[in-house]
Amino acid sequence: MKALVSLNSGSSSIKFALYTLGAARQPQLAARGKVEGIGIAPRLTARTAEGEVILDRAWPGEEGLTHAQLLEHLFDWSAGHLDQHEVIAIGHRIVHGGTEFAGPCLIDEAVLAKLEALCPLAPLHQPHNLAGVRAVARLRPGLPQVACFDTAFHHGMPALATRFALPRALHDRGIRRYGFHGLSYEYIARRLNEIDPQLAAGRVIAAHLGNGASLCAMRNGTSVDTTMGFTALDGLMMGTRCGSLDPGVVLHLQTQLGMSAADVERLLYTQSGLLGVSGISSDMRALSESGAPEAEEAIELFASRVAREAGALAVSLGGLDGLIFTAGIGENHADIRSRICRRLAWLGLDIDETANAGHRTCISLPDSRAMVCIVPTDEERMIALHTLAILARVPA
Ligand code: ADP
Repeated sequence: MKALVSLNSGSSSIKFALYTLGAARQPQLAARGKVEGIGIAPRLTARTAEGEVILDRAWPGEEGLTHAQLLEHLFDWSAGHLDQHEVIAIGHRIVHGGTEFAGPCLIDEAVLAKLEALCPLAPLHQPHNLAGVRAVARLRPGLPQVACFDTAFHHGMPALATRFALPRALHDRGIRRYGFHGLSYEYIARRLNEIDPQLAAGRVIAAHLGNGASLCAMRNGTSVDTTMGFTALDGLMMGTRCGSLDPGVVLHLQTQLGMSAADVERLLYTQSGLLGVSGISSDMRALSESGAPEAEEAIELFASRVAREAGALAVSLGGLDGLIFTAGIGENHADIRSRICRRLAWLGLDIDETANAGHRTCISLPDSRAMVCIVPTDEERMIALHTLAILARVPA
């Protein structure tokens, strides 16, 4: 029996999912989990598909354990857990595929070199993604590895949606809008096609609202516009990221307040968003439970920014047939969904508060002009499906 692994290697965590392949070669989730606290207090946890905890291991006092060493622990454990299953490939989430990579591909030395060259475009994510690839190559030489890009789903966006109003020469040097969260949106597009093919063929905005947050305007299941641009900093307000910001603020911080580029980077990526505005937490649940006026203001700003950007994407689509909520906040937080939908009532969204409170799949009233749905995302599964498709193309 064969198995696949999906890996998402970040700076301080590695998320993974193990899939077995049955006779129909459909990935069956065997376990999912994460290594957290890398560099501080590493801990490896895993659950079955049903949510039962099957692994919880910590390494107190061993904060020096590297990504590669922790991956080795993960592989050792998975070999035991997968029993008779042979891992035949690893799929990686790679944040940036630049202008060249329009879809997933097998990773070889030439591909790795091209992906390394894209590190300056995603300095906080890409190096860690690639460190995972290199670690697997050392631990399991010869095992096929597949790159699955967060940018690829947006590759076919109309040329206008890729442009900043900057001189053409800069666009030609790659200073353009790419878009991210593509694996999530691709999964949502597929699921929506199974749930409601008519809606999937229409004008849909998908709202991926997690710690990172963005919107994607889809027509007939393809991306036509999105809120993240050159980096994953643009667009919506997020857990700790600021989202769209007058670029004059960045200049002022540096020229008038004397902040270095590194200070500004830290501010915009890790000290802003819900955390910065509330001064309390980056976690939406904690803010909802807080009751402090600063927490309420952060929540209101989040909802109003989502609605404002959704209005802009409705312009890109020329109208709206459906709004899809996904990711941690989008799937679980009824009050945020309600606040967003109330602001978008003028677009024909009429939310059913009972269905919303019950987290049902369809949460709009039957006569609502545009539908509102909750569709849980699964980026790891999308990676597994891509990895299988690439393997099928590789000669044995
Ligand atoms: P990531 O981008 O790290 O994958 P998630 O998609 O897990 O993030 O989303 C994390 C956010 O979702 C946090 O703000 C968290 O408070 C929120 N969230 C997660 N579960 C719930 C829940 N049951 N109710 C309300 N908010 C939730």
